[in-house]
Amino acid sequence: MTNLTKDFFYSLSQNKLLNESAKKWGFKFGADKFVAGTDLNSVTRTIKKLNRYGISGTVDNLGEFVSDREEAMRTTNNIIRLLNRINEENLDCHVSVKLTQLGLDIDEQFCIDNMRKIMEAASKFGIFVNIDMEDYSRYEQTLRILQTLREEFENVGTVMQAYLYRAEEDLEQLKDVRIRLVKGAYKESEAVAYQSKAEIDRNYLKLAKKRLLGDAFTSIATHDHNIINELKAFIKENNISHDKFEFQMLYGFRTELQYNLAAEGYRFCTYIPFGTDWFGYYMRRLAERPQNINLIVKDVFYDSNNKLKKKPLVIAAGAATFLCLLRKRKNSGK
Ligand SMILES: Cc1cc2nc3c(=O)[nH]c(=O)nc-3n(C[C@H](O)[C@H](O)[C@H](O)COP(=O)(O)OP(=O)(O)OC[C@H]3O[C@@H](n4cnc5c(N)ncnc54)[C@H](O)[C@@H]3O)c2cc1C
Repeated sequence: MTNLTKDFFYSLSQNKLLNESAKKWGFKFGADKFVAGTDLNSVTRTIKKLNRYGISGTVDNLGEFVSDREEAMRTTNNIIRLLNRINEENLDCHVSVKLTQLGLDIDEQFCIDNMRKIMEAASKFGIFVNIDMEDYSRYEQTLRILQTLREEFENVGTVMQAYLYRAEEDLEQLKDVRIRLVKGAYKESEAVAYQSKAEIDRNYLKLAKKRLLGDAFTSIATHDHNIINELKAFIKENNISHDKFEFQMLYGFRTELQYNLAAEGYRFCTYIPFGTDWFGYYMRRLAERPQNINLIVKDVFYDSNNKLKKKPLVIAAGAATFLCLLRKRKNSGK
């Protein structure tokens, strides 16, 4: 059942029609809990608030799977505007980008040209740029583009997904590069990735410890308190400097734990997504943690004062129709 729910939300995250429609809806289904607004002003307010608590940010101007050159160029300009804002307001944060939002699926060279414009602006301001890792079909291209960019720029890094069998070998090649270590958010086949939580967790810990003993900076990106606790003990035992790593979590997830880790003296960085392209990102978060479905129910049926909305029947009919439509789409394999 859990797998079915995961598959369902994962297929929704990739549904182009729903992703496009969601841009016009404004926030729906509780997405505002995980997405820091749709514009630069709202995300700036969020970063400032986190900075006041000693937490830095990595900001994702949401968007992915772009198939139109103009849209990829618009996104590039939006990210450059974001970099300008970070510089003007002296915000403690860097940016995270996805290559498919910069035209990777259109043409690799076009995507590199867009990335180069972003890197030029970021280098001017001394801001780090992280390339998020997407699904396995883009994995090798992503590593190739990273290497191309690193010939010109130092302030660029990427993400390694511990569910991949090849992660350890590839991290060896990236031992001088700033890396964010994650478990992996996409649905990959057993030909390339571990499937069970136990195997993924084991590999995550192995890779994190290896990175912590190495020289380059590592972002330990997980909400898993078991992993965090084991790594905290490892860091203490091995006297590892707190300047060599940070913990990262997603905006809206385990907020109390985020503040606690920062208060304990660890470097902490929150991944802050914003923008109108929230649908795919939000559906992947629901796929990871179907318990969050209660946010959708709450958003549809209750108002901000936790009172049942006035026209529950009308809303219920609308919600049921929507969910039926989604299910129909899934069953027809679209
Ligand atoms: C900052 C950041 C950046 C990321 N970037 C990428 C990327 O570029 N590419 C990519 O593929 N993936 C990325 N991910 C997603 C990542 O790959 C995982 O899919 C996601 O983080 C879920 O795995 P987890 O390690 O957090 O723990 P999980 O395996 O989901 O959870 C482990 C345990 O932690 C506890 N837990 C987890 N979440 C909560 C919660 N909200 N409340 C209470 N308890 C909880 C539960 O006990 C759970 O069993 C990123 C994740 C983070 C945090």
